[in-house]
Amino acid sequence: MLRDIHDEIFRQDDWGTPAQYIPELANVPSNRFAMSVCLANGECLNVGAADDPFSIQSVSKVFSLAATLGRIGDQLWSRVGREPSGTSFDSVVLLEREKGRPRNPFVNAGAIVTTDVLLSGRQPKQALAEILGLVRTLAETDDIHINERVAASEKSTGARNKALAHYLQSHGNLENAPDLTLGTYFHQCAIEMTTRQLALAGRSLARLATGPNVISPRHARRINALMMTCGHYDGSGEFAYQVGLPGKSGVGGGILVIAPKVASIAIWSPGLNHYGNSHAGTRAAAMLARATGWSVF
Ligand code: GLN
Repeated sequence: MLRDIHDEIFRQDDWGTPAQYIPELANVPSNRFAMSVCLANGECLNVGAADDPFSIQSVSKVFSLAATLGRIGDQLWSRVGREPSGTSFDSVVLLEREKGRPRNPFVNAGAIVTTDVLLSGRQPKQALAEILGLVRTLAETDDIHINERVAASEKSTGARNKALAHYLQSHGNLENAPDLTLGTYFHQCAIEMTTRQLALAGRSLARLATGPNVISPRHARRINALMMTCGHYDGSGEFAYQVGLPGKSGVGGGILVIAPKVASIAIWSPGLNHYGNSHAGTRAAAMLARATGWSVF
């Protein structure tokens, strides 16, 4: 089945366009594809470039949210909402209207707040060690690293994220200096993983009995709900319609898809659609959901 999806993906002409606003990502060829699926019986299946590390970008927000809920639990929700935004991932418009309380933890402003929580009382190195440590534990490998060039590249062009962080600060919703929180956020986004590793890291969210279950079932349920409603920004409704599973995308072209109690799925293809979600990755997720009947609906 995975081979069929792979072959079908390579028959397409339009791969979308890699993220242009982070120069290090703009150079990645768009016609790359990988998919990994970890099943409840412990088996993991891979197709395509499943051992090529890619920039996980906003997929990291799932792990920083898990770490934040582990650290301060429901207190997070006084600073961040739980509703879909209907706006792009880096939009400023709602933040002004809603007085500096981001709609959800997956739009950039909301993720900057969760990173700020992890940073409080610590150095950026320690906050990053917690996120990286969580991902490594979940994937059962130490071979996951931060690409400093990607982090520096985003820092040099990240004017919008700087605007968001300063806006949060002006509303008293940032505990640390904007530069420190942003530096930590850019580094967490610059974590590189293969689809093989990302699918392994998703097992705890899928509540599979295999692998280390570090994320509590209660938090996993909530994170999945947010992935379903907010994980693809203003493309979340369409993803739920086409795939019917919780998913979190990143502008590096990665998508983590969870079939609760059934499978953890990681997909990568760097060309993006107009929402900033992987074009081929979204198609592949829809094909897999159709072929397996794994939709939660
Ligand atoms: N680092 C990226 C940004 O903040 C993450 C966005 C994304 O993957 N959607 O713009």
